[in-house]
Amino acid sequence: MASGPSVLMRLVASAYSIAQKAGVIVRRVIAEGDLGIVEKTCATDLQTKADRLVQMSICSSLARKFPRLTIIGEEDLPLGGVDQELIEDDQWEEILQKPCPAQYLAIKEEDLVVWVDPLDGTKEYTEGLLDNVTVLIGVAYEGEAIAGVINQPYYNYQAGPDAELGRTIWGVLGLGAFGFQLQEAPAGKHIVTTTRSHGSKLVSDCVSAMEPDAVLRVGGAGNKIIQLIEGKASAYVFASPGCKKWDTCAPEVILRAVGGKLTDVHGNALRYYKDVKHMNSAGVLAALRNYDYYASRVPESVKKALVP
Ligand code: AMP
Ligand code: MG
Ligand code: MG
Repeated sequence: MASGPSVLMRLVASAYSIAQKAGVIVRRVIAEGDLGIVEKTCATDLQTKADRLVQMSICSSLARKFPRLTIIGEEDLPLGGVDQELIEDDQWEEILQKPCPAQYLAIKEEDLVVWVDPLDGTKEYTEGLLDNVTVLIGVAYEGEAIAGVINQPYYNYQAGPDAELGRTIWGVLGLGAFGFQLQEAPAGKHIVTTTRSHGSKLVSDCVSAMEPDAVLRVGGAGNKIIQLIEGKASAYVFASPGCKKWDTCAPEVILRAVGGKLTDVHGNALRYYKDVKHMNSAGVLAALRNYDYYASRVPESVKKALVP
């Protein structure tokens, strides 16, 4: 029997094209000038027209091609018909040419859970900090994040009119991560990246305990993982229950695929089963190198306050 690409590689190839379309939608909403901002739980927990349109686009496009997937998106949206214009059918050929890691060859569609953050860094998006924004599509199997796609719609937006705007990063555990140049953070320096919009005393206490040489406060979980893989920061420290599974699934894969590690503040792996609670209640701790240094410095008071 002729066997084409595996379900996993077909899914990632489709997710890549779908994430690119998402990037186009994110830029179009800004260009049109009406963000349609809605407060969800509070003034720092926002949803815009782009969050809504992109989630509809991603979830409907995936469900049409892979009807047996479990797809979990951040936004709570009414069910209903989706404009055909939002559907993306393409798949990225380059991904279909890559070999599927042997351990994932036999995966069936119904075994996969897809975690979708249509727009990560919404608060920053509404404030014009556009390169903080990413679109996240993460794929989990048996509770583990195994594949991910990150689109950064405004990558290069400050590089001048000739620069190509936007990029898509993707990865699969056991295969690697692509679409960026891996760079190491300055050796011997502890540069910590953390939230700029969702701070608290616990978040600050944990960052200080790392004895950082510098602290970068930027928006988005996807954006912070990009900082780690491009050598801008050496650790992502977020001692807060605010981050959700859709924030960490795709970024975790990209980081792990190049040798990094992402856990909660206790050092536990995050689990992505379809019925798991959405909140990462025990926070996020991630590094490309020297993870153990950062894990060893998490204060006991922080661990006590953040129960998994
Ligand atoms: P940040 O680093 O603040 O950009 O947060 C990373 C992700 O977690 C973003 O998608 C935020 O919206 C989300 N997040 C973090 N803390 C909170 C919170 N307190 N309330 C709502 N969302 C949060
Ligand atoms: Mg998010
Ligand atoms: Mg979001």
